[in-house]
Amino acid sequence: MIMINILHIGIDDTDSPDGMCTTYLASQIINEFEKNGIELVDYPRLIRLNPFARFKTRGNGGVSFRIKNDDKANLAKEIVLDEVEKLSMFDCDNTNPGVIFYDGEITKEMENYAFRAIYEFITIEEAEEFGKSVGCQIHKFKKGRGIIGSIAAISLPLDDYTFELLAYRASENYGTKRQIDYDSVYLMDKETFPDTFENIDYSEEYIAIEPKTPCPVLYGIRSNNVEALEVAKSIVKVAEPIVDWCIFKTNQHTDMHIQKAESISEMKKFGCYEVVGEVKNKPTIIDGGHMFFYIKDESGEIECGAYEPTKNFRKTVSYLMPGDVIKVFGGIGEQNTFNIEKFQVIKLNDIEYQNPICECGKRMTSAGKNKGFKCKKCGNKIASDEKVPIKINRFLKNAQFYETPVSARRHLSKPICRM
Ligand code: ATP
Repeated sequence: MIMINILHIGIDDTDSPDGMCTTYLASQIINEFEKNGIELVDYPRLIRLNPFARFKTRGNGGVSFRIKNDDKANLAKEIVLDEVEKLSMFDCDNTNPGVIFYDGEITKEMENYAFRAIYEFITIEEAEEFGKSVGCQIHKFKKGRGIIGSIAAISLPLDDYTFELLAYRASENYGTKRQIDYDSVYLMDKETFPDTFENIDYSEEYIAIEPKTPCPVLYGIRSNNVEALEVAKSIVKVAEPIVDWCIFKTNQHTDMHIQKAESISEMKKFGCYEVVGEVKNKPTIIDGGHMFFYIKDESGEIECGAYEPTKNFRKTVSYLMPGDVIKVFGGIGEQNTFNIEKFQVIKLNDIEYQNPICECGKRMTSAGKNKGFKCKKCGNKIASDEKVPIKINRFLKNAQFYETPVSARRHLSKPICRM
């Protein structure tokens, strides 16, 4: 077997809230590669990292791609560094690009580093030391924070993956209203879902393929396969030029950020988990529209939140009752509250304790503390205080998953249509 020597290239932290997008920069590099006869091995990759990372612009994504490490490798490196120099948003304090070149096999310890970049916080110094120890060529611009994500973007194994097709706008249109024919997006969703997903939030009438920031992206369509993306692209109509487009292989919508917790007490702040617990109290809504309740197990309890932006999901959460056993998926934020992304019902509590029914058919009322029950209609009395168990019908169903709407979903969250 002939082994080809691969050069891995990782790029991160080139954009700012005012513009750019590391995927666009990657697509420009790929164009330059094409002009110079440099071919990519496999699709470029868009890798989402720790959703709680402090310095992220939006979705904490890094980009990587692979080329053959042949006589054009040095030219490729020059192109990458030139484009990062040319296109990064250097004026923004929080834009600190980092570029990584690495030739060779991705080792187990590099894979472990990548998972740490999804689950934990890594410092620039730590990333630099690690990168050097495994033989990465490191290029830092300004503080070079991007090397944290760049090393992870080249190193992460993708057992489960999805694709995203990103279409880019002409620069003169940046910051203006995107000219997307929404009817065609509805048609595209109808024709290609569930191969494509996260296109539209029907409950909010929100077109999720359209970014809301002034970045170069006109739209992004997410999918399980490339064929569906090609069909989707042919259906979506726009009334402005698409200057370029690129398909990325990604870890989006794979739940890669979620770790399995065996008990509530083992979960840590700023971690994302799935954990089973019993609902302790009826969910209640507070000012601002956020909904909270507790789950418990033998090890302890934690407050769970369905926040206002999750809209109708709060209605679903409101059907939970004390005694229900559920598996929640989500992350623990600043306030130590478990922010629910989705939940699965493990076992519904379908028994409610009610006052007994009188022989005459009327439900009895309490006759006072420790005085049993009495019937207001016929005057009948029972000495016992014990309520009777009644089987009730529940709106929620055992084994079923319930998820936040598309408009409130994280890039990494696996939608039910992929479960
Ligand atoms: P966009 O989604 O538009 O690409 P972004 O949200 O990805 O923007 P970046 O500009 O890439 O934001 O900034 C994220 C920064 O956080 C990068 O410098 C990246 O290296 C760093 N980072 C990524 N993962 C971690 C982590 N686990 N710990 C600490 N820093 C991290």
